[in-house]
Amino acid sequence: MVITDPNPDERGTERWFTISSSPTQNDIQITTRLIEPKHSEFKKDLFHLKPGDSIEIEGPEGKFLLPDKAEKIVWIAGGIGATPFIAQMQYLLDSKDQQRDIIFLHGLRSLDEDPCKDIVQQCEEAMPNFKRIIILSQDTPSDWQGEHGYIDDKLIQKNVPDSSKRQIYVSGPEPMVDAMKDILLSIQVDEKNIHQDWFPGYKEKY
Ligand SMILES: Cc1cc2nc3c(=O)[nH]c(=O)nc-3n(C[C@H](O)[C@H](O)[C@H](O)COP(=O)(O)OP(=O)(O)OC[C@H]3O[C@@H](n4cnc5c(N)ncnc54)[C@H](O)[C@@H]3O)c2cc1C
Repeated sequence: MVITDPNPDERGTERWFTISSSPTQNDIQITTRLIEPKHSEFKKDLFHLKPGDSIEIEGPEGKFLLPDKAEKIVWIAGGIGATPFIAQMQYLLDSKDQQRDIIFLHGLRSLDEDPCKDIVQQCEEAMPNFKRIIILSQDTPSDWQGEHGYIDDKLIQKNVPDSSKRQIYVSGPEPMVDAMKDILLSIQVDEKNIHQDWFPGYKEKY
């Protein structure tokens, strides 16, 4: 996506975004974060767009897609890295493809930054083999009973004992996605079953 700006910052006027809507929906949707107050000039321009303004878009590109129905799946996302899975959740619901076996490990710094609470709830209600596990790394409420810290080999082995038999999709900030691949290889996941989608503008670890 390109948004014209006569005074861009050094990061420029172009960004990549995942389409977070499903092919079953009429409108194209993206999902992103505005980090106050230290956001880029691009994000300022994006959030100031009004109906009728023009932007340039290209694409779509890439092959970060749902596998065959028979495959068991793991999704691993850091924060806003859930955007490709938001599109896929909507698609599974709309196309009544509800028997998929999906374990979604979602690293969040705080519950407030969850980008997909409502659609996850719909999937958990409609899909008997769908489960999201949130791993909180920072603002853990005092009554939090779930996972906390970072996603590591032990957490994956505990929550996904059959990880070597699943297709594993990892999406999020570049350092997190790279770290996940090393962890997955160290627990004997075959490299060909690991699929990655990097969001290079973000640096969080999750
Ligand atoms: C294939 C692909 C898919 C992607 N999909 C998505 C998506 O669905 N949603 C999404 O949000 N992003 C997505 N991204 C990442 C996206 O393209 C941007 O890189 C990201 O949103 C960060 O935007 P930004 O650079 O405007 O920084 P911001 O979001 O404004 O800030 C990110 C961080 O960079 C710091 N920062 C901001 N500006 C500067 C600066 N000038 N100098 C130094 N530090 C700065 C901020 O303080 C903050 O810590 C995707 C990237 C790729 C390659």
